[in-house]
Amino acid sequence: MAERPKLAYEYDALEPHIDARTMEIHHTKHHQTYVDKLNNALEAHPDLQGTCTGKLLRTLETLPESIRTAVRNHGGGHANHSLFWEIMGPGGGGKPEGDLAQAIARDFGSFEAFREKLTNAAANQFGSGWGWLAYADGKLEVLARPNQDSPLMEGKVPVLGVDVWEHAYYLKYQNRRPDYLNAWWNTIRWDAVAARFEKAKAGSHTI
Ligand code: MN
Repeated sequence: MAERPKLAYEYDALEPHIDARTMEIHHTKHHQTYVDKLNNALEAHPDLQGTCTGKLLRTLETLPESIRTAVRNHGGGHANHSLFWEIMGPGGGGKPEGDLAQAIARDFGSFEAFREKLTNAAANQFGSGWGWLAYADGKLEVLARPNQDSPLMEGKVPVLGVDVWEHAYYLKYQNRRPDYLNAWWNTIRWDAVAARFEKAKAGSHTI
């Protein structure tokens, strides 16, 4: 059974960048719905209930066709939001250090170039979706994907992601997605992102 993870911080901890009301609704309502619908889809498949969501997404094409869309949408939603809460926190922002900083400089030229690339990818994602920093074949890349699709579905490991569904920003930013994105950079906990990067390189990531 999938479970919604607790936040490691309060709902108002990301103020003024992301408001408390948005965080509370996003975490308690939107994320819970993904978890409930994923669990409902797996109800008739006890053999899959113990499989971690990341593995379900990596092996989507091998799942019974009757649950594939539900796992893609709701399993994707559960995995993506679990990552999202983890890579944000109070006192966030700034720049990465160490191996992650070096890999970003190697693959994008500079942190600033990477930031611009991810911001543009997320800003230009038409409709609902996510902007991603993903790791595959020894390299980092920026992706934008619709709905709750995860890089895991294409054999890549999500290291950092930003939710650009309107529910992630509409209360505070309305139609101003670029303003939300600029504010979001101030919430990133680069130590958590670096930990994900190390796991991705080692192949020991779960979601
Ligand atoms: Mn969301």
